[in-house]
Amino acid sequence: MQPEKFSVHCCIAGGGPAGMMLGYLLGRAGVKVLVLEKHGDFLRDFRGDTIHPSTLEVMHELGLLEEFLKLPHQKVYELNAQFGEVPVTIADFRHLPARCGFIAFMPQWDFLNFLAEKAARYSSFDLRMEAEVTELIKESGRVVGVRANCANGDLEVRADLTIGADGRSSTVRDDAGLAVKEFGAPMDVLWFRLNRTAEDPVMTMGRFDSGRIFIALNRGDYWQCGYVIPKGHFEDMRRRPFETFRAAVVKLAPYATASVQELRGWDDVRLLTVRVDRLLDWCRAGVLCIGDAAHAMSPVGGVGINLAIQDAVAAANVLFRPLRQGRVTLEHLRRIQKRRELPTRITQALQVAVQRRVIARVLVETGPLKPPLALRLLARFPLLRRIPARIIGLGIRPEHIMRELIDS
Ligand SMILES: Cc1cc2nc3c(=O)[nH]c(=O)nc-3n(C[C@H](O)[C@H](O)[C@H](O)COP(=O)(O)OP(=O)(O)OC[C@H]3O[C@@H](n4cnc5c(N)ncnc54)[C@H](O)[C@@H]3O)c2cc1C
Repeated sequence: MQPEKFSVHCCIAGGGPAGMMLGYLLGRAGVKVLVLEKHGDFLRDFRGDTIHPSTLEVMHELGLLEEFLKLPHQKVYELNAQFGEVPVTIADFRHLPARCGFIAFMPQWDFLNFLAEKAARYSSFDLRMEAEVTELIKESGRVVGVRANCANGDLEVRADLTIGADGRSSTVRDDAGLAVKEFGAPMDVLWFRLNRTAEDPVMTMGRFDSGRIFIALNRGDYWQCGYVIPKGHFEDMRRRPFETFRAAVVKLAPYATASVQELRGWDDVRLLTVRVDRLLDWCRAGVLCIGDAAHAMSPVGGVGINLAIQDAVAAANVLFRPLRQGRVTLEHLRRIQKRRELPTRITQALQVAVQRRVIARVLVETGPLKPPLALRLLARFPLLRRIPARIIGLGIRPEHIMRELIDS
């Protein structure tokens, strides 16, 4: 069967936060854009569910904030941790110079569905679900589109520009031959849900104990839980009775004694492998990577979605005019990398430092835990909590949508 053929200004591989936000912005600016998402819906679990103050600011600039905040969410004003027996507030978002001094915890599928619904208003925007990009089409050393497998046949898309927003295992970046620098990560995360009762604590919180780290995100009637393990240890754990794991969780979250019994076994626990890397070049003629496809983020600080959205905003600001006029050059693409690379480098450097100096040490510690100096300072001087709040909530270089794009 002949593939179905499309011709667009811009084809985006991947409908995650980076791809959907860029698709929405370009569609709104009148650029003919097609987003290809390999899954049939956005209803997948185990994505970060954090909508940061900077993303809320972007929603405000688009005139969508009020409607967006009508979707069910929890407002988190501060991030707390318990280190051994010592409680510490790590970040306080209330004082940020932003409209919303909180992180909105919302299932990511609600956020992506919202963007998809708003983007569908623009005739220049198109979204194909169950469309997996399998390879780039290259001509004379330039990327000129993609081939994709769809539920009802193959697609061939010709595009002035192809965007790789297809996440950490990006097909686009592999096929474009873009070189990757790996930074490594000492841990993986086991991800699962526990029922939450009215008697449970309300705080979203990280608990650090000798050899163990447990994150519990308050999602209303359930806890979204992350149990951090040394990299590669999952198979070992699976060989032990599941009861050992239940007991380890209860030790860190005694309030979960009853709900942890509702976990039926390892099938209720998902392994999320952690990886931190960055492309040396984010682009080639005809192709640009953004979000995790350009720089896979560690879960430390929960900032990957923030960076993905900011890449999308920066890319839209630079590209909407040249794409409309059919004159995108490699120079435009390099400008986006130049703008976004420094904030990415700094954020990843901080994540890697926390991974090495805190997480790796906690995971091998057998004696009593003492909070590191930085956390002791945060506990002692509350004003200092504004620094992590800024890095997590707004990012190193928050992006704003150009007025001209909003009005176009
Ligand atoms: C354990 C863990 C927890 C995390 N928690 C948080 C958190 O709480 N907050 C936070 O901000 N960040 C968190 N992160 C980081 C965050 O998940 C990423 O940085 C963020 O999702 C990147 O967004 P993206 O749009 O670039 O990529 P993704 O979210 O990975 O989206 C890529 C999309 O492309 C699609 N796709 C993939 N391949 C193809 C293909 N070939 N064709 C078509 N579509 C394709 C995928 O289905 C997906 O929808 C966490 C990461 C990990 C590992």
